[in-house]
Amino acid sequence: MGDKNSEAVIIGGGLAGLACAVTLADRGVSVSLFESRPRLGGRASSFEDKQTQALIDNCQHVSMGCCEEFNRFCQTVGISYCFRREKQLYFVGPAKSNNDLSASNESRARFKVNSFAASSWLPAPLHLLPAFGGLSYLSIQEKMELVRGLKRLARIPVDFNNEPTMAEWLADQGQSQNVINRFWNVVLVSALSESLERISLSHAQKVFVDGFLRARDNWQVLIPTVPLEQLYGDVILRRLEQKQAKVHLQTGVERVQIEAGKVVGVQLRDGQDLSCERVIIAVPHQRVLSLLPDTFKGRESLESVEQIEAAPITSVHLWFDREITELPHAVFVDCLSQWMFNRSRIMQPSSETDFYYQIVISASHHLRGEERQGRSQKEIIAEVVEELSQIWPETRRAKLIHSRMVTEHQAVFSVQPGIEELRPSQRTDVSGLYLAGDWTSTGWPATMEGAVRSGLKAAEFLLDDLGQGESLLLQQTQTGILSKILFRL
Ligand SMILES: Cc1cc2nc3c(=O)[nH]c(=O)nc-3n(C[C@H](O)[C@H](O)[C@H](O)COP(=O)(O)OP(=O)(O)OC[C@H]3O[C@@H](n4cnc5c(N)ncnc54)[C@H](O)[C@@H]3O)c2cc1C
Repeated sequence: MGDKNSEAVIIGGGLAGLACAVTLADRGVSVSLFESRPRLGGRASSFEDKQTQALIDNCQHVSMGCCEEFNRFCQTVGISYCFRREKQLYFVGPAKSNNDLSASNESRARFKVNSFAASSWLPAPLHLLPAFGGLSYLSIQEKMELVRGLKRLARIPVDFNNEPTMAEWLADQGQSQNVINRFWNVVLVSALSESLERISLSHAQKVFVDGFLRARDNWQVLIPTVPLEQLYGDVILRRLEQKQAKVHLQTGVERVQIEAGKVVGVQLRDGQDLSCERVIIAVPHQRVLSLLPDTFKGRESLESVEQIEAAPITSVHLWFDREITELPHAVFVDCLSQWMFNRSRIMQPSSETDFYYQIVISASHHLRGEERQGRSQKEIIAEVVEELSQIWPETRRAKLIHSRMVTEHQAVFSVQPGIEELRPSQRTDVSGLYLAGDWTSTGWPATMEGAVRSGLKAAEFLLDDLGQGESLLLQQTQTGILSKILFRL
């Protein structure tokens, strides 16, 4: 396995492990990556749907303009052309704002599609005024209330040791239930996959500051045009191999061996022992402690990881015999469904004859409860289809050829108050041991961006220990001058 002094063993081939591997291999470090599954990509993965024989994603993954490290990683490995950048979002909300409803109950359509697009000439953050202004399901007073709330949220200094949940903060600010349901809930639950009752103020602040207020294109959404397995599969594998990195698929690591405060090797699940002095553990947080010896100096500092809670995400996959909407995607307001992705339109090139849609329901704790109380997947799928029918009547005429529901119970870590204290640094107390993974300390929620950042940080620490110190993360984007003045960013 090469010179064991400079070799880095990476455990886990998710985005954190991959970003770390690519970065180290590009800098001449000899890398061996072990992934227990037969493919790379980790939680951003696909599987074959038996009935359609199509490769479908466990759940639609999207990136945003503000995900700079992830977007740069995609460029580095040559996959950025597999994303389409949405410069217009579609919000499907109640056809009338509350004021309109009290004036007249005559509208027949329950839902209306609102297009959300920024101005091409106004500076940030004013460029978003036309977009927010166009949300017809909020009254003018509600929009003003929302702007007041956003301004306060951006400016508030957060005490990480004693911060409220977003629900508590919104109540303190006197934000009305309608604005909470139709705006804060819609954006934050899908961005952070948690309910407002559990989201910490600091994470909510990050979503709005980084995603909307800091710079012009940060809010734009990037959607993969190929299945995730294809995205994070062969191209990255080949690139790693070209750089002499060894990738071992279907090879789980049982344990990291530590002696006298130093890494000395790893034991594979098949019993093989490999000696090495540098290991990056890039597995989900639930698995970390099981990879480490029961006792070693420095273990206590990692035990907080066990207190990190997870949050679920559900996706409902639907195949119809006809197109129910031409929109490539839509964000739903006041519905069980939260996002719709028109995969047949998004995929390049789509060879399917059926029309495939994916509906995402983040923070789906409530569905798990319902399943337990006897509400079957079939009923949940029927509710989703009924919602689509109310929005796009063509759904009633379409035949639902096939459907399935996938719930990832440990999709992301839960961004509750106090979470930042539980997230460890990528550098540990053990010589030669580093951590990576979306759950390590990056300041980002559980996202592909957070995972890539963690991989870069781990690589940065390792290179530093090898005497090749270098700053690997990009400087923070320049904040627009007006955003600085208005929000003190
Ligand atoms: C349903 C769902 C929807 C999501 N939507 C989005 C989204 O829209 N946008 C976004 O940015 N993020 C999204 N995320 C989050 C994103 O997928 C994760 O934050 C990111 O992929 C985590 O990467 P990671 O490398 O930290 O961990 P993982 O992807 O979990 O990778 C860890 C890897 O370690 C491997 N492993 C574990 N134990 C061992 C062992 N003993 N030996 C060898 N290998 C091992 C695992 O098999 C896995 O491949 C979503 C996640 C889910 C589940």
